[in-house]
Amino acid sequence: MQYIKRFNISLLVLLIFFSLSACKTIQPTPPTVSDKPKTEQSRKNDLQTDHKTKTAQKEQSEQDKENKQQQSKPPKAIDYEKVKPNELGEIMVVMYHYFGDKEQEFTRTFDNFRKDLKVLYDKGYRLISLDDFLNNNIAVPAGTTPIIFTFDDGPASQFNLIEKDGKLVVNPESAVGIMMEFNKQYPDFGLEGTFYINEVAFSGSRGTEKERLQYLLELGMDVGNHTFGHTNLGQADPDTIQKVIGKHVAKMKEFFPNYKNNTLSLPYGAYSDTTFDYVKRGTYENIQYQNDSVLLVGWKPSPAPAHKNFYPLKLLRVRAGEGVQHDMYYYLDYFDKNPNMKYISDGDKDTVCFPEDMKGQLDAEKVGNKKVITY
Ligand SMILES: [Zn+2]
Repeated sequence: MQYIKRFNISLLVLLIFFSLSACKTIQPTPPTVSDKPKTEQSRKNDLQTDHKTKTAQKEQSEQDKENKQQQSKPPKAIDYEKVKPNELGEIMVVMYHYFGDKEQEFTRTFDNFRKDLKVLYDKGYRLISLDDFLNNNIAVPAGTTPIIFTFDDGPASQFNLIEKDGKLVVNPESAVGIMMEFNKQYPDFGLEGTFYINEVAFSGSRGTEKERLQYLLELGMDVGNHTFGHTNLGQADPDTIQKVIGKHVAKMKEFFPNYKNNTLSLPYGAYSDTTFDYVKRGTYENIQYQNDSVLLVGWKPSPAPAHKNFYPLKLLRVRAGEGVQHDMYYYLDYFDKNPNMKYISDGDKDTVCFPEDMKGQLDAEKVGNKKVITY
Protein backbone atom coordinates (compact mmCIF):
# COMPACT_ATOMS: atom_id res chain seq x y z
CA MET A 1 0.00 0.00 0.00
CA GLN A 2 1.40 3.36 -1.07
CA TYR A 3 0.19 5.31 1.94
CA ILE A 4 1.72 2.84 4.35
CA LYS A 5 5.13 3.35 2.74
CA ARG A 6 4.74 7.09 2.96
CA PHE A 7 4.07 6.80 6.64
CA ASN A 8 7.12 4.75 7.37
CA ILE A 9 9.51 7.52 8.37
CA SER A 10 7.07 9.50 10.49
CA LEU A 11 5.92 6.23 11.95
CA LEU A 12 9.41 5.30 12.96
CA VAL A 13 9.92 8.62 14.68
CA LEU A 14 6.60 8.24 16.46
CA LEU A 15 7.38 4.70 17.51
CA ILE A 16 10.71 5.64 18.99
CA PHE A 17 9.05 8.48 20.83
CA PHE A 18 6.30 6.16 22.05
CA SER A 19 8.67 3.53 23.31
CA LEU A 20 10.66 6.16 25.17
CA SER A 21 7.69 7.97 26.59
CA ALA A 22 5.18 5.18 27.19
CA CYS A 23 7.07 3.42 29.96
CA LYS A 24 8.05 6.67 31.60
CA THR A 25 4.53 8.00 31.83
CA ILE A 26 2.61 4.93 32.92
CA GLN A 27 1.56 5.53 36.46
CA PRO A 28 0.05 2.64 38.33
CA THR A 29 -2.54 4.53 40.31
CA PRO A 30 -4.33 2.80 43.16
CA PRO A 31 -8.05 2.90 42.48
CA THR A 32 -9.75 5.05 45.07
CA VAL A 33 -12.94 6.55 43.75
CA SER A 34 -15.95 4.91 42.21
CA ASP A 35 -16.81 7.01 39.18
CA LYS A 36 -19.59 5.27 37.37
CA PRO A 37 -19.95 6.05 33.68
CA LYS A 38 -23.24 7.53 32.60
CA THR A 39 -25.72 4.84 31.76
CA GLU A 40 -27.28 6.86 28.96
CA GLN A 41 -24.05 6.87 27.03
CA SER A 42 -25.14 5.50 23.73
CA ARG A 43 -23.65 4.49 20.47
CA LYS A 44 -25.13 2.96 17.35
CA ASN A 45 -28.66 4.25 17.79
CA ASP A 46 -27.60 7.84 18.31
CA LEU A 47 -26.15 8.24 14.89
CA GLN A 48 -28.94 9.75 12.84
CA THR A 49 -28.83 8.39 9.36
CA ASP A 50 -31.07 6.71 6.87
CA HIS A 51 -28.24 4.67 5.45
CA LYS A 52 -29.28 1.19 4.41
CA THR A 53 -26.56 -0.54 6.42
CA LYS A 54 -27.77 1.30 9.46
CA THR A 55 -31.38 0.24 8.98
CA ALA A 56 -30.35 -3.35 8.39
CA GLN A 57 -28.16 -3.19 11.47
CA LYS A 58 -31.02 -1.82 13.56
CA GLU A 59 -33.32 -4.58 12.35
CA GLN A 60 -30.64 -7.10 13.10
CA SER A 61 -30.10 -5.72 16.58
CA GLU A 62 -33.89 -5.79 17.24
CA GLN A 63 -33.82 -9.41 16.12
CA ASP A 64 -30.84 -10.09 18.39
CA LYS A 65 -32.65 -8.43 21.27
CA GLU A 66 -35.71 -10.62 20.75
CA ASN A 67 -33.57 -13.72 20.50
CA LYS A 68 -31.73 -12.78 23.66
CA GLN A 69 -34.98 -12.10 25.49
CA GLN A 70 -36.32 -15.46 24.44
CA GLN A 71 -33.12 -17.11 25.53
CA SER A 72 -33.16 -15.45 28.92
CA LYS A 73 -36.74 -16.57 29.74
CA PRO A 74 -36.10 -18.60 31.76
CA PRO A 75 -32.30 -18.13 32.11
CA LYS A 76 -30.45 -21.17 30.97
CA ALA A 77 -29.39 -23.27 33.93
CA ILE A 78 -25.65 -23.82 33.96
CA ASP A 79 -23.46 -26.10 36.01
CA TYR A 80 -21.49 -23.55 38.09
CA GLU A 81 -18.80 -26.02 39.07
CA LYS A 82 -18.25 -26.87 35.41
CA VAL A 83 -18.49 -23.39 33.85
CA LYS A 84 -16.92 -21.67 36.89
CA PRO A 85 -18.36 -18.21 36.08
CA ASN A 86 -16.41 -15.33 37.54
CA GLU A 87 -18.00 -12.00 36.74
CA LEU A 88 -15.58 -10.20 39.04
CA GLY A 89 -12.60 -11.48 37.06
CA GLU A 90 -10.24 -9.39 34.92
CA ILE A 91 -10.96 -8.17 31.40
CA MET A 92 -8.47 -7.12 28.74
CA VAL A 93 -8.94 -3.80 26.95
CA VAL A 94 -6.45 -4.24 24.12
CA MET A 95 -4.58 -1.25 22.74
CA TYR A 96 -3.69 -1.46 19.06
CA HIS A 97 -1.82 1.23 17.15
CA TYR A 98 -0.46 0.58 13.67
CA PHE A 99 -0.71 -2.26 11.16
CA GLY A 100 1.70 -2.96 8.36
CA ASP A 101 4.01 -5.39 6.65
CA LYS A 102 6.62 -5.52 9.38
CA GLU A 103 6.04 -6.38 13.03
CA GLN A 104 7.32 -3.69 15.40
CA GLU A 105 6.63 -2.64 18.94
CA PHE A 106 3.60 -0.56 17.99
CA THR A 107 2.87 -2.21 14.64
CA ARG A 108 1.05 -5.49 14.16
CA THR A 109 1.30 -7.17 10.77
CA PHE A 110 -2.00 -7.88 9.06
CA ASP A 111 -1.31 -11.61 9.27
CA ASN A 112 -0.56 -11.42 12.97
CA PHE A 113 -3.77 -9.50 13.49
CA ARG A 114 -5.64 -12.31 11.70
CA LYS A 115 -3.89 -14.68 14.07
CA ASP A 116 -4.90 -12.59 17.11
CA LEU A 117 -8.57 -12.87 16.15
CA LYS A 118 -8.39 -16.64 15.69
CA VAL A 119 -6.38 -17.24 18.86
CA LEU A 120 -8.82 -15.13 20.90
CA TYR A 121 -11.80 -16.86 19.35
CA ASP A 122 -10.40 -20.34 19.99
CA LYS A 123 -9.56 -19.46 23.60
CA GLY A 124 -13.16 -18.41 24.22
CA TYR A 125 -12.81 -14.61 24.12
CA ARG A 126 -15.67 -12.59 22.64
CA LEU A 127 -15.59 -8.93 21.58
CA ILE A 128 -17.81 -6.43 23.35
CA SER A 129 -17.95 -2.66 22.94
CA LEU A 130 -16.16 -0.42 25.39
CA ASP A 131 -19.52 1.18 26.11
CA ASP A 132 -21.04 -2.15 27.13
CA PHE A 133 -18.00 -2.86 29.27
CA LEU A 134 -18.20 0.50 31.08
CA ASN A 135 -21.92 0.03 31.68
CA ASN A 136 -21.59 -3.61 32.76
CA ASN A 137 -23.83 -4.63 29.92
CA ILE A 138 -21.91 -7.77 29.10
CA ALA A 139 -23.85 -10.23 26.99
CA VAL A 140 -21.54 -13.08 26.02
CA PRO A 141 -22.27 -16.82 26.19
CA ALA A 142 -21.69 -18.84 29.36
CA GLY A 143 -18.07 -19.87 29.76
CA THR A 144 -16.65 -17.15 27.49
CA THR A 145 -14.58 -14.08 28.40
CA PRO A 146 -15.32 -10.59 27.08
CA ILE A 147 -12.52 -8.57 25.48
CA ILE A 148 -12.41 -4.99 24.18
CA PHE A 149 -10.40 -3.63 21.25
CA THR A 150 -9.20 -0.03 21.13
CA PHE A 151 -7.22 1.54 18.30
CA ASP A 152 -5.16 4.69 18.87
CA ASP A 153 -3.89 7.42 16.52
CA GLY A 154 -6.21 6.85 13.52
CA PRO A 155 -3.71 5.64 10.90
CA ALA A 156 -5.15 4.44 7.59
CA SER A 157 -3.82 0.94 8.26
CA GLN A 158 -6.54 0.59 10.91
CA PHE A 159 -9.31 1.65 8.58
CA ASN A 160 -9.51 3.09 5.09
CA LEU A 161 -11.90 3.21 2.19
CA ILE A 162 -11.13 2.24 -1.37
CA GLU A 163 -13.24 2.62 -4.49
CA LYS A 164 -14.80 -0.51 -5.92
CA ASP A 165 -17.35 -0.48 -8.74
CA GLY A 166 -17.90 3.22 -8.16
CA LYS A 167 -18.58 2.77 -4.45
CA LEU A 168 -16.48 3.36 -1.36
CA VAL A 169 -15.80 0.11 0.49
CA VAL A 170 -13.55 -0.88 3.39
CA ASN A 171 -10.07 -1.88 2.30
CA PRO A 172 -9.83 -5.61 3.10
CA GLU A 173 -6.15 -5.05 3.93
CA SER A 174 -6.88 -2.92 6.99
CA ALA A 175 -7.64 -3.90 10.58
CA VAL A 176 -11.36 -3.23 10.12
CA GLY A 177 -11.39 -5.06 6.77
CA ILE A 178 -9.78 -8.06 8.46
CA MET A 179 -12.27 -7.96 11.33
CA MET A 180 -15.18 -7.82 8.86
CA GLU A 181 -13.80 -10.81 6.98
CA PHE A 182 -13.32 -12.74 10.23
CA ASN A 183 -16.83 -11.81 11.30
CA LYS A 184 -18.29 -13.48 8.21
CA GLN A 185 -16.73 -16.76 9.27
CA TYR A 186 -17.15 -16.37 13.03
CA PRO A 187 -20.08 -14.01 13.58
CA ASP A 188 -20.30 -14.91 17.26
CA PHE A 189 -16.84 -13.41 17.87
CA GLY A 190 -18.34 -9.93 17.59
CA LEU A 191 -17.44 -6.84 15.56
CA GLU A 192 -16.61 -4.03 17.96
CA GLY A 193 -13.88 -1.49 18.52
CA THR A 194 -13.26 2.09 19.61
CA PHE A 195 -11.02 4.30 17.49
CA TYR A 196 -9.16 7.10 19.29
CA ILE A 197 -8.44 9.71 16.69
CA ASN A 198 -6.54 12.98 16.43
CA GLU A 199 -7.14 15.99 14.17
CA VAL A 200 -7.61 14.09 10.89
CA ALA A 201 -8.64 10.45 11.07
CA PHE A 202 -7.45 7.81 8.60
CA SER A 203 -5.55 10.26 6.47
CA GLY A 204 -4.67 8.71 3.09
CA SER A 205 -8.05 6.99 2.79
CA ARG A 206 -10.57 7.80 0.09
CA GLY A 207 -13.58 9.87 1.09
CA THR A 208 -13.81 12.90 3.33
CA GLU A 209 -13.03 12.55 7.02
CA LYS A 210 -16.74 12.73 7.79
CA GLU A 211 -17.52 9.99 5.27
CA ARG A 212 -14.84 7.75 6.77
CA LEU A 213 -16.05 8.26 10.31
CA GLN A 214 -19.67 7.81 9.32
CA TYR A 215 -18.81 4.55 7.60
CA LEU A 216 -16.99 3.35 10.69
CA LEU A 217 -19.85 4.31 13.01
CA GLU A 218 -22.37 2.61 10.76
CA LEU A 219 -20.38 -0.59 11.09
CA GLY A 220 -21.13 -0.34 14.81
CA MET A 221 -17.64 0.85 15.80
CA ASP A 222 -17.07 3.81 18.11
CA VAL A 223 -14.90 6.90 17.86
CA GLY A 224 -13.24 8.44 20.91
CA ASN A 225 -11.02 11.39 21.77
CA HIS A 226 -7.22 11.18 21.46
CA THR A 227 -6.86 14.99 21.38
CA PHE A 228 -6.24 17.35 18.48
CA GLY A 229 -2.51 17.20 17.97
CA HIS A 230 -1.75 14.07 20.02
CA THR A 231 -0.90 16.38 22.90
CA ASN A 232 1.00 15.27 25.98
CA LEU A 233 -1.59 16.12 28.63
CA GLY A 234 0.92 15.55 31.40
CA GLN A 235 2.83 18.63 30.27
CA ALA A 236 0.03 20.85 28.98
CA ASP A 237 -1.54 23.73 30.92
CA PRO A 238 -5.31 23.75 31.63
CA ASP A 239 -6.12 26.01 28.65
CA THR A 240 -4.26 23.76 26.23
CA ILE A 241 -5.82 20.62 27.70
CA GLN A 242 -9.32 22.03 27.27
CA LYS A 243 -8.52 23.23 23.77
CA VAL A 244 -7.12 19.96 22.41
CA ILE A 245 -9.90 17.88 23.99
CA GLY A 246 -12.66 20.38 23.18
CA LYS A 247 -11.69 20.66 19.53
CA HIS A 248 -12.22 16.93 19.05
CA VAL A 249 -15.62 17.14 20.78
CA ALA A 250 -16.56 20.13 18.60
CA LYS A 251 -15.62 18.29 15.41
CA MET A 252 -17.62 15.19 16.33
CA LYS A 253 -20.62 17.34 17.30
CA GLU A 254 -20.44 19.13 13.98
CA PHE A 255 -20.21 15.86 12.01
CA PHE A 256 -22.71 13.82 14.05
CA PRO A 257 -24.82 15.98 16.38
CA ASN A 258 -26.46 12.97 18.07
CA TYR A 259 -23.43 10.76 18.51
CA LYS A 260 -22.01 10.53 22.02
CA ASN A 261 -18.76 8.97 23.07
CA ASN A 262 -17.37 10.49 26.23
CA THR A 263 -14.15 8.55 26.42
CA LEU A 264 -10.57 9.68 25.93
CA SER A 265 -7.38 7.76 25.38
CA LEU A 266 -4.36 9.59 26.82
CA PRO A 267 -1.63 10.30 24.25
CA TYR A 268 1.55 8.62 25.59
CA GLY A 269 -0.54 7.60 28.61
CA ALA A 270 0.51 10.93 30.07
CA TYR A 271 -1.35 13.02 32.61
CA SER A 272 -0.61 15.11 35.65
CA ASP A 273 -2.53 14.82 38.91
CA THR A 274 -2.60 18.60 39.20
CA THR A 275 -4.45 19.08 35.88
CA PHE A 276 -6.35 15.78 35.64
CA ASP A 277 -9.66 17.51 36.47
CA TYR A 278 -9.42 19.28 33.09
CA VAL A 279 -8.98 15.94 31.36
CA LYS A 280 -12.18 14.75 33.01
CA ARG A 281 -14.24 17.83 32.26
CA GLY A 282 -13.83 21.26 30.80
CA THR A 283 -14.96 23.91 28.37
CA TYR A 284 -13.50 25.07 25.09
CA GLU A 285 -15.21 28.07 23.43
CA ASN A 286 -18.87 27.14 23.82
CA ILE A 287 -18.25 23.38 23.97
CA GLN A 288 -18.46 21.58 27.30
CA TYR A 289 -17.15 18.07 27.69
CA GLN A 290 -17.09 15.42 30.36
CA ASN A 291 -15.18 12.18 29.96
CA ASP A 292 -16.73 9.14 31.61
CA SER A 293 -13.64 7.08 30.95
CA VAL A 294 -9.98 7.95 30.43
CA LEU A 295 -7.79 5.20 29.02
CA LEU A 296 -4.18 4.67 30.04
CA VAL A 297 -1.40 3.20 27.92
CA GLY A 298 -1.53 -0.57 28.13
CA TRP A 299 0.11 -2.51 30.91
CA LYS A 300 -2.44 -4.78 32.62
CA PRO A 301 -6.02 -6.07 32.41
CA SER A 302 -8.86 -4.14 34.06
CA PRO A 303 -10.96 -5.34 36.97
CA ALA A 304 -14.55 -6.17 36.03
CA PRO A 305 -17.15 -3.36 36.17
CA ALA A 306 -18.70 -4.70 39.40
CA HIS A 307 -15.31 -5.16 41.08
CA LYS A 308 -14.44 -2.74 43.88
CA ASN A 309 -11.22 -1.77 42.06
CA PHE A 310 -12.87 -0.93 38.74
CA TYR A 311 -11.79 2.59 37.90
CA PRO A 312 -12.92 3.88 34.48
CA LEU A 313 -11.24 7.28 34.89
CA LYS A 314 -7.86 5.62 34.71
CA LEU A 315 -8.83 2.58 32.72
CA LEU A 316 -6.19 -0.08 32.39
CA ARG A 317 -5.32 -1.57 29.00
CA VAL A 318 -3.00 -4.24 27.71
CA ARG A 319 -0.82 -3.80 24.69
CA ALA A 320 -1.30 -5.62 21.41
CA GLY A 321 1.62 -7.63 20.14
CA GLU A 322 3.83 -10.49 21.17
CA GLY A 323 7.02 -10.28 23.14
CA VAL A 324 6.59 -6.64 24.13
CA GLN A 325 6.07 -5.76 27.75
CA HIS A 326 2.58 -6.35 29.19
CA ASP A 327 1.18 -7.56 25.89
CA MET A 328 -1.96 -9.50 25.11
CA TYR A 329 -0.15 -12.82 24.62
CA TYR A 330 1.54 -12.47 27.98
CA TYR A 331 -1.86 -12.19 29.64
CA LEU A 332 -3.44 -14.89 27.45
CA ASP A 333 -0.78 -17.24 28.76
CA TYR A 334 -1.28 -15.92 32.30
CA PHE A 335 -5.05 -16.52 32.11
CA ASP A 336 -4.49 -20.00 30.62
CA LYS A 337 -2.42 -20.80 33.70
CA ASN A 338 -4.67 -18.89 36.13
CA PRO A 339 -8.19 -19.23 34.72
CA ASN A 340 -9.67 -18.18 38.07
CA MET A 341 -8.28 -14.66 37.51
CA LYS A 342 -10.20 -13.88 34.33
CA TYR A 343 -13.80 -12.86 33.83
CA ILE A 344 -15.90 -15.86 32.85
CA SER A 345 -19.53 -15.21 31.97
CA ASP A 346 -22.50 -17.16 33.29
CA GLY A 347 -24.32 -16.32 30.06
CA ASP A 348 -26.88 -14.07 31.76
CA LYS A 349 -26.18 -10.34 31.52
CA ASP A 350 -28.63 -9.56 34.31
CA THR A 351 -26.57 -11.31 36.97
CA VAL A 352 -23.21 -10.82 38.65
CA CYS A 353 -22.07 -14.37 39.34
CA PHE A 354 -18.82 -15.37 41.08
CA PRO A 355 -17.38 -17.87 43.58
CA GLU A 356 -18.45 -17.37 47.18
CA ASP A 357 -14.90 -16.67 48.40
CA MET A 358 -14.67 -13.54 46.21
CA LYS A 359 -17.54 -11.80 47.95
CA GLY A 360 -15.25 -9.20 49.51
CA GLN A 361 -14.23 -7.97 46.03
CA LEU A 362 -17.72 -6.92 44.99
CA ASP A 363 -18.75 -3.27 45.02
CA ALA A 364 -22.47 -3.52 45.84
CA GLU A 365 -23.03 -0.01 44.47
CA LYS A 366 -21.91 -1.11 41.03
CA VAL A 367 -24.35 -4.02 40.85
CA GLY A 368 -27.37 -1.85 39.96
CA ASN A 369 -30.48 -3.94 39.45
CA LYS A 370 -28.57 -7.08 38.57
CA LYS A 371 -28.93 -10.21 40.64
CA VAL A 372 -25.87 -11.33 42.61
CA ILE A 373 -25.27 -15.08 42.49
CA THR A 374 -22.46 -16.80 44.39
CA TYR A 375 -21.64 -20.49 44.40
ZN1 LIG B 1 -1.47 7.86 20.53
